[in-house]
Amino acid sequence: MSGENDCTTPITLRARHVLPMAADPIENGWVRIQRGRIAAIGRGQPSGPVADLGDAIILPALVNAHTHLEFSDLDRPLSTGGGLPVWIERVVAMRRSRAASGTDEAARLRAAVASGLEESAAAGVTAIGEIATAVHPLTTHAGPLVRVFRETLGLSPAATRVARSALLRDLDQMNGEGACTGISPHAPYSVAESLGRQVVGEAVRRRLPVMMHLAESRDEAELLATGGGAFRTLLEQLGAWQPDALPRLLPVADWITLLARAPRGVVVHGTFLPEDQAALSRLARHRDRLCVVVCPRTTLALSGRLPPVEAFRAAGIRVAIGTDSRASNPDLSVLAECRALVEGGVVSPREALTMATTQGAWALAFERRCGLLASGRFADLVILRPASRHADPSEAVLDPATQVAATLRRGRVIAGALP
Ligand SMILES: [Zn+2]
Repeated sequence: MSGENDCTTPITLRARHVLPMAADPIENGWVRIQRGRIAAIGRGQPSGPVADLGDAIILPALVNAHTHLEFSDLDRPLSTGGGLPVWIERVVAMRRSRAASGTDEAARLRAAVASGLEESAAAGVTAIGEIATAVHPLTTHAGPLVRVFRETLGLSPAATRVARSALLRDLDQMNGEGACTGISPHAPYSVAESLGRQVVGEAVRRRLPVMMHLAESRDEAELLATGGGAFRTLLEQLGAWQPDALPRLLPVADWITLLARAPRGVVVHGTFLPEDQAALSRLARHRDRLCVVVCPRTTLALSGRLPPVEAFRAAGIRVAIGTDSRASNPDLSVLAECRALVEGGVVSPREALTMATTQGAWALAFERRCGLLASGRFADLVILRPASRHADPSEAVLDPATQVAATLRRGRVIAGALP
């Protein structure tokens, strides 16, 4: 079987478990694929030729709702000791030393993104929420679908002018190349209010989703409340904080109101949102268009705690899951992120898989493209091979010994192989 099943001949995959996510798990189930879409889903013995996957599990392909693929060439994460401002200092130092070393940054970036896409496909992912600081080198159309959120930041009037024009230029180029895009004001400590209002206005005009790191650390809250602390020191060191032109920064609650103007908005992390009731209740009020993406292993490494998923769920807010980058995380495995939440007692295996599929698709405004298995939908799915039997198929999916056998996007194998 070549995997070239986006032709007119249907293929039917049979497996011990099919988890459509939009409906209850099906034991002894099957999925029929034709022309890249799901033609039917059923239980028992399907008619016609069948590829029998045995004890396998078929799940909607995973969605990595937040990452930065530019760091996918790192063998191991940068040290996360000391918290977020210190880690950011290390990222900036790495970027500066690369620039000084004279390496071909465009070539390195292309290779890093290609490696991240390949690693993602091998981990069962077909859709990615990617943060990019320039035009994204989409190296392949055969891999996962990427929504590129062009990141922007700037505090001084001069920096915000440069940032805004670079953002518009890059969005025009990427949209001209047919990329799915979005806009990402970086964070409340790095984006002046004026720039934030301009770029969210641009997202409204272009009908693009937005994504922003919010309430990620206590240092962020301190800067916004007092104008001081570790972020102030860092920004001064970087030359981004000029005493003669103090930037106007927005509190997190006001950012949430601003993001809610866009057609879809994603709050990344939100680790300390439960300590800011005004912000949390505003997020709950706008839950028809805003959601949260948590990155459990990165949050644990940088903040010493797991994300407050219970607080978001109690407020009725959708929660998706992401890996963040290999600058803070050892790999791009969405299933490993799910495991971190389940092992921490934060969610059930089934809830974690909902975050990694349907909720992730919604976060990226891809809910019509992926995230669940149903007739008529694109055949974006992952086939998993458990090492042992489990009564609960969601538990089997999250068993660390379970292997990804194949990842299909629109019915085509983009990683692994069918039998
Ligand atoms: Zn991030």
